[in-house]
Amino acid sequence: MKIVFATHNKNKIKEVAALLPTVELLSLESLKCYDEIEETAMTLEGNAKIKADYITNRFELNCFADDTGLEVEALDGVPGVYSARYAGEEGGAEKNMTKLLLALKDNPNRKAQFRTVIILNLNGEQHLFEGICMGTILNKKYGSKGFGYDPIFQPKGYSVSFAEMSMEEKGKISHRGLAISKLIAFLNKL
Ligand code: IMP
Repeated sequence: MKIVFATHNKNKIKEVAALLPTVELLSLESLKCYDEIEETAMTLEGNAKIKADYITNRFELNCFADDTGLEVEALDGVPGVYSARYAGEEGGAEKNMTKLLLALKDNPNRKAQFRTVIILNLNGEQHLFEGICMGTILNKKYGSKGFGYDPIFQPKGYSVSFAEMSMEEKGKISHRGLAISKLIAFLNKL
């Protein structure tokens, strides 16, 4: 069975391909698809659907796509679907984190969660998988591993930030790890 993973991120493809022995996982590169798919939805579900549907419609192939956001309780779920561009299109991780720390200031409610949504288009049907990692926003940056908001996010039950954990350790409890495990369990049962 062939399935496209609608991402340009080679690490994500490698990680998932290793866990799916029965599936021929195709990347956007292998389809020579360099189109800029605009993520114009206001929800993670909407954006994952836009990406998966674009590829299924254009190439008539089964496809899945993911979208992730950091949802901060005291900010009513912001930055959420705008996590990548919270401090502007050219902002980047450092500016995003600085903006978030400023927005929270010394607010005692530091509760937040990372949420990943995967939409799978399979033989004319659509399936949704979700992974959530709950935690808190720290008051400054800790650690240098990982990416994005990792230095200011501490997962529930741990005393270190995501950026202080190894990739393997983070993968076992992360939002993306959980959503991908659900997708893999589903595909491996087919
Ligand atoms: P994407 O949908 O995987 O591209 O994630 C959107 C944005 O959410 C990224 O640009 C990061 O800012 C943030 N993000 C997603 N996953 C993580 C994570 O595991 N750690 C830290 N930040 C993340």
